[in-house]
Amino acid sequence: MTEIATILQEKGLDGNAELWRRRLEKVTNSDVEGALSEPAGSYSLRRLMTLISPAGENYLEQMAQAAHQLTVQRFGRTIRLYAPLYLSNYCSNSCRYCGFNKENEFKRTRLTIDEAIEEANIIAAKGFRDILLVSSEDRKFVSTDYLAGLAKKLRPTFGSISIEIYQMSSAEYARLFASGVEGVTLYQETYDRRAYESYHPSGSKSDYDCRLRTPDNIASAQMREIGLGALLGLADWRIEALALAEHAHYLIKAYWQSHISFSFPRLRPAHHVESSLFTHSLGDKNLVQMITALRLCFADAGLVLSTREQATLRDNLMKLGITKISAGSKTNPGGYSGHSNAIEQFKVDDKRSPIEVAAVISNQGFEPVWKDWDRAFLGNQDD
Ligand code: SF4
Repeated sequence: MTEIATILQEKGLDGNAELWRRRLEKVTNSDVEGALSEPAGSYSLRRLMTLISPAGENYLEQMAQAAHQLTVQRFGRTIRLYAPLYLSNYCSNSCRYCGFNKENEFKRTRLTIDEAIEEANIIAAKGFRDILLVSSEDRKFVSTDYLAGLAKKLRPTFGSISIEIYQMSSAEYARLFASGVEGVTLYQETYDRRAYESYHPSGSKSDYDCRLRTPDNIASAQMREIGLGALLGLADWRIEALALAEHAHYLIKAYWQSHISFSFPRLRPAHHVESSLFTHSLGDKNLVQMITALRLCFADAGLVLSTREQATLRDNLMKLGITKISAGSKTNPGGYSGHSNAIEQFKVDDKRSPIEVAAVISNQGFEPVWKDWDRAFLGNQDD
């Protein structure tokens, strides 16, 4: 068993939901006030549990203010903008919450490298210099060779290239790092073992432990940024948040050179996905609680928000600790050029253009940053 699997098992965070629900229910208002008075940015499992507890809901205003102050202190008044580029919707897995599930019948699409570059050029023309390459598990076509070749061609245009792809070995990640990829997002989807098994009935993604140890592979390959997250709605969000935090805490201690970021994807309607799956839905109020609590426990973590969320909610969340946001996203391969009618992975909610989103960021007193500020600051920016 890997170190992180042992940590989660010993703490009951991979499935002992009843134990954690009892603990969460016992948290009092005075416990929350105590947790809020601890140094901003300090993490302990107990502190996070207190802030995300039902009692913590009474302190959302204080948490929001503290999260805002801490974020401005650490990141300045800036929000990075990025765009996803979907490469393929062929998939060898059958995740029950996903429209690209291999059991779903629809006309699938994959982009050649030239087609992907055409899409990337459209993204660049909108101003983006931060791109996220996304693909389902289509290893034969979207191979390491394909990704390395594509990254090399994109490098002169994009200051930051990240991937959200299937699980890889450390050697594969190292090869992509050498080709210009510097960030990898890989959600555990759910940290609850039984729920994980039920939502991932077949394919290589069905192995919970393999999924859980993949961020170690990413970090060992020296990637600068590791994006973590749970797909909110598959299990109790409070226990997912605790497991997610323990995972991040473990990685930060073990691999100091990688920067951790959190995403907060909530289940969205998707092609052929049954709505009966949405049994652990997370409301807006609790989403705010989770985001601000994680900020208060992880001062330097990037907090990422996608166009899954509604425009109004995204506008409000910008002030509460979000550091990176997507805009004008298409979640189907070929979606930007409009050459393909491929189905989307999920329905986008915020359909505003990148310029409109950037204007909202400016109106809120923040600077929209289209490129990777670390590189710009270091004078390493390619473009
Ligand atoms: S979540 Fe990813 S791996 Fe699972 S079916 Fe969808 S595209 Fe495939």
